[in-house]
Amino acid sequence: MLSPEVIGQLQRVVGPANVLTQREDLIPYSFDGTAALRKMPAAVVFVQSAAEVCQILQQANAAGFPVVTRGSGTGLSGGSLPVEKGIVLCTVKMNKILELDRANLTLLVEPGATCLQIAEAAGAAGLFYPPDPGSMKISTIGGNVAENAGGLRGLKYGVTRNYVMGLEVVLANSEILWTGNKCVKDVAGYSLKDLFIGSEGTLGVITKILLRLIPKPAARKTLMATFAQMDQAVEAVSAIIATPIIPCTLEFLDRTTIRCVEDFAKIGLPLDCEALLLMETDGHSAAVAEEAAAMERICREHGCLMVRVARDDVEATQLASARRSAFAALARVAPTTILEDATVPRSALAGMIRFIDTVSKKYGLRIGTFGHMGDGNLHPTFLTDERNAEEMHRVEQAFREIFDEAIRLGGSITGEHGVGVAKKAMLPKFAGDVSMRVMRDFRRAMDPNQILNPGKMFD
Ligand SMILES: Cc1cc2nc3c(=O)[nH]c(=O)nc-3n(C[C@H](O)[C@H](O)[C@H](O)COP(=O)(O)OP(=O)(O)OC[C@H]3O[C@@H](n4cnc5c(N)ncnc54)[C@H](O)[C@@H]3O)c2cc1C
Repeated sequence: MLSPEVIGQLQRVVGPANVLTQREDLIPYSFDGTAALRKMPAAVVFVQSAAEVCQILQQANAAGFPVVTRGSGTGLSGGSLPVEKGIVLCTVKMNKILELDRANLTLLVEPGATCLQIAEAAGAAGLFYPPDPGSMKISTIGGNVAENAGGLRGLKYGVTRNYVMGLEVVLANSEILWTGNKCVKDVAGYSLKDLFIGSEGTLGVITKILLRLIPKPAARKTLMATFAQMDQAVEAVSAIIATPIIPCTLEFLDRTTIRCVEDFAKIGLPLDCEALLLMETDGHSAAVAEEAAAMERICREHGCLMVRVARDDVEATQLASARRSAFAALARVAPTTILEDATVPRSALAGMIRFIDTVSKKYGLRIGTFGHMGDGNLHPTFLTDERNAEEMHRVEQAFREIFDEAIRLGGSITGEHGVGVAKKAMLPKFAGDVSMRVMRDFRRAMDPNQILNPGKMFD
């Protein structure tokens, strides 16, 4: 609970209508997209400017309450989960597109704009903002930057970090920092903006973002292929990349996910296969035609059961929906869906997928796996029930084994969802002592009173 005095001060900054304190109003902000994590905030505060954020952080330092910044709350590692006696500072009302600069191909936006808003603003100008997290219709660009979100186009176009040119950040001591600019080249001093990208709300509140846009690809082609065995699909992916072709999308679904998607979306997916690949190439139309033909040929050479090339945009969207609806389809099957995020070097993919299957059998758990095969980024998804304590214990053990194996194979404990609360116990093993000390020292220097998202990433 916060004192009536503190609540009164918050209301004076943002107006009473922008401060929620009633239990029923707070409940929707007591969780994010991460399963089985809940905590009630003391209040939710909607900000509309950097100046308001400054005043709130001043109050937080003076009164000693924690501040958890939140965009849309779609995070999958508990990053925007409230903390004890803390407020949730919500940015969704700061959602303006501020400036599109055609000469420099940049877009200046507020943090509460959704990723879709940004893609549409770029598209309307004939330009392209490539990062496309599965949550793009609702997740905010502030949340995307704070998590360094990836997406289905990561293989060719990279992740959010690759499109951030500048940031305005309110620091924990309430100073406003601007870092970066519209220059294509700039090596003056440390790249401070890169420290805030992926910082999960622990180093500052991002209040403006300068994004890089690129020309829109002239053409694209989407293909789907199915395989009787997962190994054939993995080998086809390796052969495509070795050609070398870097498609913008190279995604897969395993048997469990294919069945759930077909049950949910009725796309007409074949159910007699162990793996489905979704591939998309974009660029100049001649190159696209050549690459699509090569990918089709490679899939056939690797024994695919069938390969379908979309004839038009409608069919392309239909094929892509098999992948885009994977999480929603799996989530219908069991009361609790725990979507995980393990990354391994591409060369270790086949072994990792087999390992997940072995772990699923060992612990008697249902796991559907899908993800970004071209990036080596897998989403093993546990279909479980958080009310069953014994099963949750097995989930916990399976989860540990999978991430220990990812580390052993030279991979990472998270490719795009972040550490938050969900992975913080594993970060020391992954990062090592020196990295942990440097990260802790840095955080302490930036936020000595630990008001920004305490207990996230590490204690
Ligand atoms: C169906 C579904 C599909 C998804 N697909 C993908 C995917 O393909 N790729 C991917 O990477 N992720 C994906 N995600 C995860 C999630 O959508 C992303 O992490 C997204 O970037 C979170 O944005 P958000 O606005 O919801 O942020 P929130 O969940 O509200 O916050 C996430 C973190 O960012 C911090 N934060 C938010 N705004 C700011 C700010 N302005 N300043 C400082 N810190 C801030 C918060 O404190 C928190 O630590 C998916 C989630 C769902 C539910």
